[in-house]
Amino acid sequence: MSHGPPSGRTVIPDRIEETPDLQGAHPRLSEAQIAALAALGHRRATRPGEILFRQGERDCDFFVVLAGNVAVVDGHGTPEERVIGVHGRGRFLGELSLLTGEASFYTAVAADAGEVLAVPAGRLRELIAGDPAFGDLVLRAYLLRRSILIGLGAGLRIVGSRYSPDARRLRDFAARNRLPCRWLDLEADPGAEALLRQAGVTPDETPIVIAYGRLLRNPSNAELAAAVGLPAPGTPHAASDLVVVGAGPAGLSAGVYGASEGMRTVILDSTATGGQAGTSSRIENYLGFPSGISGAELAERAVLQARKFGATFAVPARATAITRDDGNYTIGLGDGTSVTAGSVVIATGASYRRLDVPRLEFFEQMSVYYAASQAEALLCRDDPVAIVGGGNSAGQAAVFLSRHAARVTLIVREPDLRACMSRYLIDQVERAANVRVLPRTEVRQLLGDQALEAVAVENNRTGARSIVEARALFVFIGAAPSTGWLGGLVDLDDHGFVRTGGTAGAADADGRDTGWQRSALETSQPGIFAVGDVRSGSAKRVAAAVGEGAIAIRLAFERARAS
Ligand SMILES: Cc1cc2nc3c(=O)[nH]c(=O)nc-3n(C[C@H](O)[C@H](O)[C@H](O)COP(=O)(O)OP(=O)(O)OC[C@H]3O[C@@H](n4cnc5c(N)ncnc54)[C@H](O)[C@@H]3O)c2cc1C
Repeated sequence: MSHGPPSGRTVIPDRIEETPDLQGAHPRLSEAQIAALAALGHRRATRPGEILFRQGERDCDFFVVLAGNVAVVDGHGTPEERVIGVHGRGRFLGELSLLTGEASFYTAVAADAGEVLAVPAGRLRELIAGDPAFGDLVLRAYLLRRSILIGLGAGLRIVGSRYSPDARRLRDFAARNRLPCRWLDLEADPGAEALLRQAGVTPDETPIVIAYGRLLRNPSNAELAAAVGLPAPGTPHAASDLVVVGAGPAGLSAGVYGASEGMRTVILDSTATGGQAGTSSRIENYLGFPSGISGAELAERAVLQARKFGATFAVPARATAITRDDGNYTIGLGDGTSVTAGSVVIATGASYRRLDVPRLEFFEQMSVYYAASQAEALLCRDDPVAIVGGGNSAGQAAVFLSRHAARVTLIVREPDLRACMSRYLIDQVERAANVRVLPRTEVRQLLGDQALEAVAVENNRTGARSIVEARALFVFIGAAPSTGWLGGLVDLDDHGFVRTGGTAGAADADGRDTGWQRSALETSQPGIFAVGDVRSGSAKRVAAAVGEGAIAIRLAFERARAS
C-alpha cells in the first residue's frame, strides 16, 4: 500500500527548534567523541528535505549531526505524518533498532542545509563494544528513545475492532516485543475508518497492520516479526552446542554465559524476549540497580549482550516437542522446523493463571490484561482500573498504574498485603493516594455490555457484595509452569514443575538404569538442565533465575566433558 503524501515532501515546521533533552535521550557528543567517530565514517553535506534513512530500512548508518538540523518524522509521506523530534549539532540519530537489526521505526529528514557524519552500523557496534563510556551513552539514549516512541504511539499502526481476538493478539505481540505502535480501534477511533478507506480495506478484512507503508492483512505473529526484522524462526540454526528454550531472565542469562564461553548458542522464545520480567514496570530488588530497572530495559540489555557474544535468537519460536537421539536432543518448533544440540536449558518459566469467572473470554479480548507495562498504561490512561492479586507483581502494577489511571482498586484475597507482598511495595502502595486496597475480597462477575465497566466483588469472610468501577482489569494471581511441550521426557513434580538435582539415575533406551547421577539443576535426562521459575522449588525471583542460568552453563560444560 502506498499513502499518497499530501505534498510529496515532509512538512518541516517553519521555525525549527531543537527538541529539548528532558530525559537524557538526546545527549550531545563531545568534540573528542565526534573525532573518534569521524575516523570510522565519512562527512557529507545535506540538502533541505534530504532523507537520511527511511522508516522500514534496516542496517542504516549511524548519523551524527555536524551542522544544521535533522527532523525525525513518524508516518513519513502519509496524511498522519508528524515531526517528533529535531536534532542539531553534536546529536546523533537512530534508536534501539540500529543495534538490534530491526527496521527503523521513523524517517530522518535533513531540515536545512547542513552536514552529517555517517558511520556504518557495523563500525558503530564495534566502537560500542570497544569503548564502554561511549557504548553506555548510546545504549542509554537508545533505550530511552524506544520508550519515548512507544509513549508517542509512533511506528506501526494496528487497526481493528476491540472485539477481535486477532487484533488483541497483534497488540499483545507488539507490546511484549516493545515495538512502537499505535492502536486504532474501529469501534471508537474515527481515524481508523479513514485509514482503512485510504488503504482500500473493508472493516471485515481487519485487523490490519501498517508497517512502514506496507499493508499486512491479519498477519501471524511470525509474519509481523519478519516485517519488523525480529529474528523469526526459519533462520538456519545448523548444529548448535546449546539450545536455550525460553528467553526470560533465566534463559537470557544461560544464553549470555553459554555464548560467552564459546558455545554455539540458540535461544528460542514463543512470544518475546524478557519473559515475565519483561512485563514488569520496575524491578527494584535486582542487585546493582538501586533506583530499579524496568523489565523491558533489562531484557533489551541482555539480548544485546547475548548477541555480542554470538548467540542467535529465534522469536517467535514455540518449542512443541523434545526427543533424544544418540546423545543429542532435538527440539521441534511450532512451524515444523527443529533445532538440535547436545545440551538443552529449559527456561520456559511460568505463564499467568486466569480468573475463574463467567464471560472472562469475552472481556479478555479488550479489557483484561496479564501485564502492566507502558503499552497497557497507555490504553487505560485516566480510567478507573482494578487489579486482582496480593503478590509483588500486583503491588508493582498498582504503583505503576496509579501514575496513569484515574483510580486503582487492588483486590486481594488475603486479610492484608503482608501475606504475600514485600514490605517496600506495601509502603509504596499505601503512599499512592489513588490506590484503594480491598482485602479478603474476590471477583465474582465482570460487568459491561460491550466492554468492561465494573467488577462485582465479594468479601470472602462476610459474603457482602459490592461493585468496583473498572474499565480495565489486571490479573496477577500466580502462574503455572510451561512444561506441556516436554511430553514426559523429563521428570516433573506433582504441580508440573521440572525436577532437578537429587540422586535419581537415568534409564537407557531399554529402561535399564545407567547409574548416571544428575547434578544440581540437571533434569532426569543427562545434558538437559532446568533453570528459573520452571524448576521445582525455584525462588521465583529475577536474580535467582539469572544465577541459575549461569550455573547451568557451568554444569553443561562439566557434563559435556564427562561424557
Ligand atoms: C509483573 C511481574 C513483576 C515481577 N517483578 C519482580 C521483581 O520486582 N523482582 C523479582 O525478583 N521478580 C519479579 N517477578 C518475577 C520474575 O519476573 C520471574 O521470577 C522471572 O521472570 C522468571 O524468569 P524465567 O526466565 O525463569 O521465566 P519467565 O520470565 O517466565 O520466562 C519464560 C519464557 O519462556 C517462554 N516460553 C514459554 N513456553 C515456551 C515454549 N514452549 N517455547 C518457547 N518459549 C517458551 C515465555 O514466552 C517466556 O518468555 C515479577 C513477575 C511479574 C509477572
